[in-house]
Amino acid sequence: MIISRSHKAVITLIVLLAVGGLAISLSADAAATDPLRVIVMNVSQGDSTLFITPKGKTMLIDAGQGGSKYAPYDAARTTVIPMLQSLGVEKIDVMVCTHPHEDHVGGLPAVMEEFPVGVLYDSGFDHTATNYQKMLEMARDREIPVKFPVTGDLIPLCDSVTVQVLGPTLPVNRRYDPNPNNHSVVVRVKYGDFSFLNSGDAEHELESLILSTGARLKSTVLNTGHHGSRTATGQEFFALVNPEVVIISAGKRNRFDHPHWDTVSRLRKAGARIMRTDYHGHVMITSDGESYQVTSTPVLEELSE
Ligand SMILES: [Zn+2]
Repeated sequence: MIISRSHKAVITLIVLLAVGGLAISLSADAAATDPLRVIVMNVSQGDSTLFITPKGKTMLIDAGQGGSKYAPYDAARTTVIPMLQSLGVEKIDVMVCTHPHEDHVGGLPAVMEEFPVGVLYDSGFDHTATNYQKMLEMARDREIPVKFPVTGDLIPLCDSVTVQVLGPTLPVNRRYDPNPNNHSVVVRVKYGDFSFLNSGDAEHELESLILSTGARLKSTVLNTGHHGSRTATGQEFFALVNPEVVIISAGKRNRFDHPHWDTVSRLRKAGARIMRTDYHGHVMITSDGESYQVTSTPVLEELSE
């Protein structure tokens, strides 16, 4: 469907209005009672998740595609950067690149051009992808520390929010899986009784390694691995995460057929509430550490009709 220029403006305005309320408390002196906010952005085929802590610290995990010749849609310029600006974000305290595939790393260099970054956490999987190399080059030029986390590490973000690294499980020089997805940085973010597990593109192999560590996986919300493909979110892994809400980040009618119907029906049968960026648009979760609310923006196609 072709969306006219005027429709695009209306859509942008509605999206900004929908998230605009979140901007109010993003000042440096945000009240201690402010909630944790998590926004899984609708970046078409890709993944991008923003965390804003009660004290206004920010963590951005991935930024969708970056407008290369292989992936012409530029998620950073069309979605991620406008979203960050509309929320009043002035700095990315922690940037995470789950792995060097274009649909995750692609938009990160453009975000780095617009916002200062405190520290970059990277999977450490070496890759020739243009935007991955550009991200590392920009980090070098700007003297942004680059870290390669492994299971058990904690990522410092905010004193009331714990960011626990679940994967990769092995140091960079001891990993042999040739699939970058299975080197994804997987984190569990905890705020009081609320928790959010972000899987990157982890597939069954990495899930098994994470299971073998015995780490606590139980989470209120799961941003499912590899866009809901059938090679991810295995039975045992899902049973231990046991989420109430599952988010699937996928592009409408994408060429990979993500998410796989079998995976979706399996997760739904397990009783999880499923939110899909291709159906629901941006998915926003706020939590005070006890309860949580899930909201979403309407999808673009519905707005343009
Ligand atoms: Zn992906």
